[in-house]
Amino acid sequence: MKEALFYTREAQGVRCSLCPQACLIADGSSGNCRVRRNTGGRLIAETYGRVSSMHPDPIEKKPLYHFHPGSSILSLGTLGCNLHCRYCQNHSISQAGTDDLPLLSYRSPDEIVNQARTMEGNLGIAFTYNEPTVWIEFMLDIAGPAKGAGLKTIVVSNGYILPEPLDRMLEVTDAFNIDLKGFTGDFYRKVTFASLSPVLDTLVRIRSAGLHLELTCLIVPGLNDNPDIFRDILTWICDTLGEDTPLHLSRYFPTYRMNLPPTPLHTLTGLHSLASERMPYVYIGNAGYQEKGRDTHCARCGTLAIRREGYQTEVPGLDAGGFCLNCGTRVAERHK
Ligand code: SF4
Repeated sequence: MKEALFYTREAQGVRCSLCPQACLIADGSSGNCRVRRNTGGRLIAETYGRVSSMHPDPIEKKPLYHFHPGSSILSLGTLGCNLHCRYCQNHSISQAGTDDLPLLSYRSPDEIVNQARTMEGNLGIAFTYNEPTVWIEFMLDIAGPAKGAGLKTIVVSNGYILPEPLDRMLEVTDAFNIDLKGFTGDFYRKVTFASLSPVLDTLVRIRSAGLHLELTCLIVPGLNDNPDIFRDILTWICDTLGEDTPLHLSRYFPTYRMNLPPTPLHTLTGLHSLASERMPYVYIGNAGYQEKGRDTHCARCGTLAIRREGYQTEVPGLDAGGFCLNCGTRVAERHK
């Protein structure tokens, strides 16, 4: 546990200013994310150092397809989330609260950085599994020393965060995958219990900071698969973030509080075709063996740059810096 950053005191409690929920939290209660509690007028980050899972993952699993392809990265998460998506695939940890804390072991930032530093072939540290921003204090305490040790820091997030804490994260993060869950305010309100515009603001801020950014959209049948609305968001992505932003279209399966049937494969391939008219790096994920949306071809000359088979990755078409061997276009960030 640690005193939280980003809050102020008010007459009726403390006001958390980490995310747009802006919870006013009475003494003894916790905020909407269930892991930041008002204890006697101080906001406490209760999950500081409390790790729910930690292991090396292929970077493609985040998913990041254009950032050090084929690398392994030490990935960790805790409990809690500031959104409450009806279909959350990780609801057992994301929707859990501090009642479950005794089940988690404590790890110090030094321990985690040391482990990441001494693991053979490890690229860095990925904050993932639940929503990482809800333990921002722990992330910041790790990411600074990790950077000093030459490790990369990756954040896999819903992007629902206010500008001031986001700016602190931008200083120490190398790459983001942001979950763009839907394309309308209505979808966000009904399915995630949050709002769309702060997420778009986050994307703009990450792009302006020049950091590596990929997007994931979980496509849910009947809820966010309308081709006209999808076209609108593609236009926004291309015009605002750039056509070369990697976009991952992920297949939904019924879980938690949603029992709609799984996304039909033809829906994913249809949206993939639509996006590919404008964007060169569009992928299909969580859909088993799938020819379409799997490999990476150079946006300029079409050379096969990265070949993927499950989480096996080969990089036949790029040099050590991530440039196309045929035409010299930058396709991915890689070790030099
Ligand atoms: S981070 Fe948690 S406590 Fe803070 S405003 Fe968001 S939901 Fe509320």
